[in-house]
Amino acid sequence: MPINLDVTAHEHARHLRAGEYTARALAEATMDRLEAQEPHLNAYVRLTREDALTQAAAADARLASGDAAPLTGIPIAIKDLLSTKGVPTTASSQMLEHFVPIVDCTVVARLREAGSVFVGKANLDEFAMGSSTEHSAFGPTRNPWDLERVPGGSSGGSAATVAARGVPLATGTDTGGSIRQPASLTGILGLKPTYGRVSRFGVIAFASSLEQVGPFARDAEDIANFLAAIAGHDPCDSTTSPLPVPDYTEGLGRGLEGLRVGVPDALFAEGLEDGVREAVEAAIEVFAANGASVTRGIELPTATAALPVYYLIAPSEASANLARYDGVKYGHSNHDGPTATLEMARTRDEGFGDEVKRRIMIGTYALSAGYYDAYYLKAQKVRTLIRREFAAAFERYDVVLTPTAPGVAFRLGEKTADPLAMYLNDLFTIPANIAGIPAMSIPCGFAQGLPVGLQLMARPFAEGTLIRAADAYGALTDWHLQAPSALEGVS
Ligand code: GLN
Repeated sequence: MPINLDVTAHEHARHLRAGEYTARALAEATMDRLEAQEPHLNAYVRLTREDALTQAAAADARLASGDAAPLTGIPIAIKDLLSTKGVPTTASSQMLEHFVPIVDCTVVARLREAGSVFVGKANLDEFAMGSSTEHSAFGPTRNPWDLERVPGGSSGGSAATVAARGVPLATGTDTGGSIRQPASLTGILGLKPTYGRVSRFGVIAFASSLEQVGPFARDAEDIANFLAAIAGHDPCDSTTSPLPVPDYTEGLGRGLEGLRVGVPDALFAEGLEDGVREAVEAAIEVFAANGASVTRGIELPTATAALPVYYLIAPSEASANLARYDGVKYGHSNHDGPTATLEMARTRDEGFGDEVKRRIMIGTYALSAGYYDAYYLKAQKVRTLIRREFAAAFERYDVVLTPTAPGVAFRLGEKTADPLAMYLNDLFTIPANIAGIPAMSIPCGFAQGLPVGLQLMARPFAEGTLIRAADAYGALTDWHLQAPSALEGVS
């Protein structure tokens, strides 16, 4: 049977189990397509054909023995922020250009155990700082809907390759929106799990109190299987929850009946681009017309402060996490002398890009004596208020809906000279990181011919509710089935 690379992971899994094609044939066809797309997209820092074929051969043995898991033989892209044993892991930074981890991060180890096939390391904004993937030391990734536009960020490579039907699944990380915003800008699904649901062990750290690893996919069932494979307690990450991992497929096919939905209209009253509001309004209408009880105008007044809170807390944590890149232990190192201090300064000057330096400077300032109380401490207090507001909202609503991003994919270079304009792209995604709650972006229409995302948020550990709602919405609409055409004719 000829292999259709445009299908979802669960459809591939069915064909693999039925013996209609092998994991090896799927891996070869996938690598051929990725290699053909790469000159146009630059979605990867590195493709790993040889490793993929070896993993695929092992997956075939497992399929033959009858103990296949849902992800066995499925091609997956790994964001290059996740440590992969023996395969360079760069964080898209000159600092780590030649860094080869000696262990897998827990998420990668679990995906390996599940028998999935790693096709390569996906491009990102350097150290996951950015919203466009233009801050990569290895060149920007392009959006398959329009190659002159960005795919969002920081997990832009992961999102672009899934949207371009290069792979059905990819990992991302989300500190302030880096899974949901690129999912929105490329017309796919992306889930940020509850803080503590997925291990961060072996993930190169940016802002440890905010980030989570999560899945990109093209339907809700794939999100469910992917999350189940990576979620759960990890003795190597003490911030992971001991709560058991539920069956995320349970909500599939259950519809929207009885779902209590709240819409904080004031949060997105202003600043939406043309067409985004219309798409989101139409999506809310679909919820209301199909059994959900929708309440408009719910109040989350402090959520508007989430963006400034984030841009104090995240750089503060980044300045501490990135202090380890001193040229002594690993990573780029300057040996020009004459003093250790100068070598360290030069190492950091040469190794880090401008955005990373900007974050380190903001964070160091916010944490310094005399400013700590006014900035960092105050931000932490407002964070507590935001968490409480969301907790109160989730006593009355199962899901809170907003747009994922204020606009559609922007042009390459459009926002690089204006950091504030770039930061504003995360206005709606950041509150979920501040509150630690799960949130998802699902495709809900088009504006100016480009995809628009709807954001769904839920109470802690209610990923199952998000998956149920995404599945139901996907059954009622076909936005998630629309494929980009900019790469038509390429492979
Ligand atoms: N765009 C946000 C930032 O630059 C979020 C990044 C992320 O989620 N990793 O900080």
